[in-house]
Amino acid sequence: MLLPLKQGTLYGPVDSRRYGRSLGINLSPFTDKLCSFNCVYCHYGQTARLTMNSEKYRDDLPAFEDVIDELEESLESPVELDLITFSGNGEPTLHPWFPELVDAVIDLRDRCRPNAKVALLSNTTGLDNPKVRKSVTKLDLPVFKLDAGTEETFKKINRPARQVKFNEIVEHLGQIDGIYLQTVLVDGTPSNTEPDELLAYFELLGKIEPREVHLYSTDRPVPSSQIYRVDPEWLEDIASQIRSETGVPAVAFYNGKQD
Ligand code: SF4
Repeated sequence: MLLPLKQGTLYGPVDSRRYGRSLGINLSPFTDKLCSFNCVYCHYGQTARLTMNSEKYRDDLPAFEDVIDELEESLESPVELDLITFSGNGEPTLHPWFPELVDAVIDLRDRCRPNAKVALLSNTTGLDNPKVRKSVTKLDLPVFKLDAGTEETFKKINRPARQVKFNEIVEHLGQIDGIYLQTVLVDGTPSNTEPDELLAYFELLGKIEPREVHLYSTDRPVPSSQIYRVDPEWLEDIASQIRSETGVPAVAFYNGKQD
């Protein structure tokens, strides 16, 4: 069964495999996924609102004040957390006030939970906005998705909105220091694990030089019966190849792994 959408602005805290207890901030509607990608493996199912422009959905997006008021209330409560993460029912950077929300969330964190980190899980498309590009440099853990080494595979795996350009995504990723890349690897149709595709992907990693690469496969249910999970041994092997071929630190994550 696919995962249900988050029914509020805040969710969790949930235990993340890498960083501890994470309080999620959902900047998308509660009724439909709003995203610039429609990934074949998305555990929320198909993207109902596939767009790079959230303007016409504005009334359904959480208001700036509501996000900050709810977060303040939560951070002032005794809830235990290590991380505050922009994520949720789609792509957080599509929210028109995303840069301002980053500033306000960091202010709240500094005041209420100075030891917590502020993170972002993003599909990268928001980086075409200079204000978003600047805001992500303020985050402790900016994590961006890169699932392909070539435009052809990118279109098959991530099925982006029409305006999204793969070469621009790669260019933007290479312009920001200290980013983390998250890659979901799948086998089947489509696949991003063919040898040529992996070589192209390794080449991009060498150019982008992220701080670290995190590899995952489909541990959760997916909407397509044509794609298959990459097993832990294979993930570990690809992580090892990344480290030796590119010099970029790479870690594989899967159910049952002890971090
Ligand atoms: S970018 Fe994330 S939320 Fe959007 S379709 Fe892909 S997996 Fe789902």
